[in-house]
Amino acid sequence: MRKLLPLLVLLATAALQAAEPALDEASRQLTHDIYKQLIEINTTDSVGNTTTAAEAMAARLRAAGFPASDVQVLAPNPRKGNLVARLHGSTNQKPVLLLAHLDVVEAKREDWSLDPFTFTEKDGYYYGRGTSDDKAMAAIFIANLIRYKQEGWLPKRDIIVALTADEETGDYNGVSWLLTEHRDRIDAAFALNEGGAGRLKDGKRVYNGVGASEKVYVSFKLETRNKGGHSSVPRPDNAIYELAEGLTRLEKFQFPVELNDVTRAYFERMSKLEEGQTAVDMAAVVKGDAEAAARLSQTAVYNALMRTTCVATRLEGGHADNALPQMARATVNCRILPGDSADDVRNTLITVLNDSGIDVAWIDKPKPSAPTLLDPAVLRPIEQVTNEFWPGVPVMPLMATGASDSLYLRNAGIPSYGVSGLFADLNDSRAHGRDERVAVPAFYDSLQFLYVLVKRLAS
Ligand SMILES: [Zn+2]
Repeated sequence: MRKLLPLLVLLATAALQAAEPALDEASRQLTHDIYKQLIEINTTDSVGNTTTAAEAMAARLRAAGFPASDVQVLAPNPRKGNLVARLHGSTNQKPVLLLAHLDVVEAKREDWSLDPFTFTEKDGYYYGRGTSDDKAMAAIFIANLIRYKQEGWLPKRDIIVALTADEETGDYNGVSWLLTEHRDRIDAAFALNEGGAGRLKDGKRVYNGVGASEKVYVSFKLETRNKGGHSSVPRPDNAIYELAEGLTRLEKFQFPVELNDVTRAYFERMSKLEEGQTAVDMAAVVKGDAEAAARLSQTAVYNALMRTTCVATRLEGGHADNALPQMARATVNCRILPGDSADDVRNTLITVLNDSGIDVAWIDKPKPSAPTLLDPAVLRPIEQVTNEFWPGVPVMPLMATGASDSLYLRNAGIPSYGVSGLFADLNDSRAHGRDERVAVPAFYDSLQFLYVLVKRLAS
């Protein structure tokens, strides 16, 4: 009798997971081959070609039985092609869009211990440029689309996969271009994209992160001018000191704490995972406790989640060692909370600098990013599937302090969720860096997680 309970639990778990087939060897091999193929097609901005990668994926989909009319490579430039593919559903409910970018950050052979454009399995990891950012998701979306097709599964809504160009850099951002030129091909009720990942700490799963919001990037040029003169005869007015004093006032300034849907949920849930004063403060900050906010602000990453930040990043000035400076200049980089106005931030800077002699000019045009509301119709399935795969591991809503292609979708009214179920140690983040890698079991877990999640979202 005593043995019965675990058996029942086992049966219940098996029944729960029996709804979707487990990962079989053929699907595993297929996904491996697609992943390898994508990594070995160089898609950097300098010498790479996303059209080659898009065409390779299109060929695989056509071979799997997708009609040519549902698999298209659309390119604003011969080297910057985007793939858009569609699996038709049984109703006219708005589709779900699965988005991944094909382009990768530059990688030099001499900076790496392995060839960045050779897919290498070593010590339990897959190595190569793009293994984590973002070709794992690209390969998984294509492999799963083929699996759905082969099973003859008919979703309720259309499933669109878009693999795009120039997310990292370059002049042909695929998502932005598709929204302008081919909106009907990628229009969706919501999208899944990069920007969410599972977090491991000491090999243990801490949470499955869901990116739902992003800060807005904008930089300003601060400049002072002066008539200058011979440095043997200094005067009180001095371009360098004037700018430096303004920067010192900025250093001491903090933008106000402002929580949104996503960061509120983040601190609430993190308060249950953290310990001691941090846990108490996270629970309190959600209720507007200013002292808790002040303590949390001492941790740079929490500070960045709670407020807009502006920080000096570059400095130059003067023209000779023996001359009074005629000019001093600083770059101030701001990361603005979604929903805040960049104009307001500039006005605040001017007030804080408190010197009409410091000119504050835009360096880049801000691309606003609407915050995504956490829709239970999407969040709940993410939570359910997460709990089936990794019982007890919570889903954590995240606001990225950087930006991704989700901003274009959100601004176009398509809520975008960063979710992958791809777990990695936060202290081993190699995206954009050397020896980029993904743990082999984590990759196949993510494959199966997204396979099940997309089925739930489209059923
Ligand atoms: Zn990326």
